[in-house]
Amino acid sequence: MDKIGFNKPYLTGNEISYINEVFISGKLSGNGKFTRMCQDWFCYKYGFKKCLLTTSCTDALEMAAILIDIKPGDEIILPSYTFVSTANPFLLRGAKLVFVDSREDHPGMDESSIESLITSNTKAIVAVHYGGVACDMDLIMDIATRHQLLVIEDAAQAIDGYYIGNDGVMRALGSIGHLAAFSFHETKNIISGEGGMLVINDIRFVNRAEIIWEKGTNRSSFYRGEIDKYGWVDIGSSFLPSEIIASILWAQLEQIHDIQKTRMNIWSNYYKNLSNRLHKIYCRGPIIPHYSTNNAHMFYIVCNNIETRTKIIEKLKMNNINAVFHYLSLHSSPFFLDKHDGRILVNSEFYSNCLLRLPFFYGLKNEDQLLIANIIINEI
Ligand SMILES: *Cc1c(COP(=O)(O)O)cnc(C)c1O
Repeated sequence: MDKIGFNKPYLTGNEISYINEVFISGKLSGNGKFTRMCQDWFCYKYGFKKCLLTTSCTDALEMAAILIDIKPGDEIILPSYTFVSTANPFLLRGAKLVFVDSREDHPGMDESSIESLITSNTKAIVAVHYGGVACDMDLIMDIATRHQLLVIEDAAQAIDGYYIGNDGVMRALGSIGHLAAFSFHETKNIISGEGGMLVINDIRFVNRAEIIWEKGTNRSSFYRGEIDKYGWVDIGSSFLPSEIIASILWAQLEQIHDIQKTRMNIWSNYYKNLSNRLHKIYCRGPIIPHYSTNNAHMFYIVCNNIETRTKIIEKLKMNNINAVFHYLSLHSSPFFLDKHDGRILVNSEFYSNCLLRLPFFYGLKNEDQLLIANIIINEI
């Protein structure tokens, strides 16, 4: 067993009593009291127009792909340095994936290279807020408006993160694109084991989103008393989580302020321990662009090459500390390589080889963070 693991899911302690409340209520399936409490809370807190809890962020993105009517031949522009779930939902509907490189200063997508990839078949841009750090949304929304494209934010890691616009206004990540998807997987800031949410900001999509969510039926309007019987009206699937999952999420939302404050302290502590020492070993710390807040989703360092990274991982391993690298670029993955258009995405490959994520979880001790930093800098 690792002395310091990479992730340790944090539970507030109230989860179990809310689960018990669900048991006692006798309503275990989805779209009940806790689901609605969570959805309303998100709308109120972050200014989302409409929220639907899902069983994962992957599911939320699958809903998004159905909702925007992806057809074979449609093109989607998305980063290569991301999780497979950013891509699969669109591929499942027959879309052609067009991958964008990462920025040089940050693993997030290079917004400036999006426009040259647009063709008459382009349907949407999937903006992934890597590590909870905002993409330049003014730029992306401007491109989308001029080319009449839809924007889907993959905000899986971005809960409680904000974009600071050119107008100086802070907008919650997930509130800017036409649609957005969040994850509550146990590796994210706010968790329910597995879980996710689709955010619908463009009201044109609200009614159909509910139908797709409820297996292609208009059951949601039936429950609201808007119609007197419900039936099959569109394609759909079972995307909604049970009330047990929603009750876990509710317990987390009640403590989000504390969770975020604690995670921010951990992040700052790493930064303090490492930022002015990393150059000694030819590495650097994370860079957060001026238009983004930091939601303390992760802490990573960027090594000068893969050999340095491997050495650091091994040294930490010898001390029973588990640090991990992140994505292997999707465009050069075994599955996609022969489907890619051949463009070389240097920054994405660079981050695949050189980025290292350090243990990060609520409850990580200061002294362990210092130990990790000293091992990395070679001073132990
Ligand atoms: C975690 C993650 C997902 C998938 O989330 P699930 O809830 O596990 O489906 C998708 N995209 C990104 C960027 C992620 O980090």
